[in-house]
Amino acid sequence: MSEAAVADSPIPQTNPQASYEAQRDEIDAAVARVLAGGRYILGPEVDRFEAEFAAFVGARYAVGAASGTDALVLGLRALGVGPGDGVVTVSHTAAATVAAIELVGAVPVLVDVDEKSFTMGPAGLAAVLTRPPLPIKAVVPVHLYGHPADMAAIATLAARHGAKVLEDASQAHGAMIDGRQVGRFGDAAAFSLYPTKNLGAFGDAGVLTTEDDAVAASLRSLRQYGWTTPQVAERPGMNSRLDELQAAILRVKLARLAADNDRRRAIAHIYDAGLEGLPLQTPAERAGAFHVYHQYVVRTDVRDRLRARLLERNISSGVHYPMPVHLQPAYQGRLAIGPLGLATTESLASRILSLPMFPQLDLDAASRVVDAIRACST
Ligand SMILES: *Cc1c(COP(=O)(O)O)cnc(C)c1O
Repeated sequence: MSEAAVADSPIPQTNPQASYEAQRDEIDAAVARVLAGGRYILGPEVDRFEAEFAAFVGARYAVGAASGTDALVLGLRALGVGPGDGVVTVSHTAAATVAAIELVGAVPVLVDVDEKSFTMGPAGLAAVLTRPPLPIKAVVPVHLYGHPADMAAIATLAARHGAKVLEDASQAHGAMIDGRQVGRFGDAAAFSLYPTKNLGAFGDAGVLTTEDDAVAASLRSLRQYGWTTPQVAERPGMNSRLDELQAAILRVKLARLAADNDRRRAIAHIYDAGLEGLPLQTPAERAGAFHVYHQYVVRTDVRDRLRARLLERNISSGVHYPMPVHLQPAYQGRLAIGPLGLATTESLASRILSLPMFPQLDLDAASRVVDAIRACST
């Protein structure tokens, strides 16, 4: 290939297929083992994945589910959240976080995100808990882009007002605060295992963690029709089981998660160093936080121009998210908003840009992204 062709080769924003190529033999063997084994739903692979994921997080229990959205629904229900209960979360997140709250019949109450970490701002949470528009049963902080929310402040506020905490850790497998992993800061935590997440299946999957025996037991029951003994429902449940194929694949990928997160951090370091001094805001890492860069998101006033210029150089980027949840057609005008409003949330939507980020991105490609942004900014 000529040098020009190399320079112009496409750089995708994310690439789950590369995660298959990186572990192809082991994944193929895991799939073949399951297909030949005769157990396809909630079998030995799921048991092992749950044990291995719990050990990775340092949590007492892990319980598999069919998706991240379902994990949030199951988590809310296991914590006793139901129809009419208020649940505080953010609007700068995947719509799934808010959808899950409504799926259990509860009422989302939205607070703003912090300027730097883009995660739930403790001031907005404190204000809404002091003057709640309806009784608040739970708080759902989101560890957005791989950066942990300020759990010391959030958990203290929630405890003071008698609210449960369900972490939405869908973008933060392996993220830490003072050496302790997310998934251990609330009453339970929900993780999506969608293919592009830091730990991703090759289909839909999710998992929860908790320290609490009773919560773990209700999660296991709720995910399978409310059974505690086979064919007898103890409570009204649903079907949200993790299948053996995905669990076997996830076990292979979990073994590499820590190394993959380190690689994401190495790419982030190239971006941080290369973009220094430009008129754009690079991601912050709060003191004591270990960011796992599910996304590397910069903030710039010339987002659309920058995005177009990157594309001219064959570099894809993303926007997470183009519209806050409370302004999306499904929700517009009908969600409760805390007393401090959503000014930061609303200002972000037009300014954020997610640069290419996945563990198999080569470091030269990351440098090419830096060069392209510098060329556009001068
Ligand atoms: C991906 C994601 C979800 C939804 O997970 P699914 O597996 O797609 O259902 C929920 N919350 C956040 C923050 C996410 O990133």
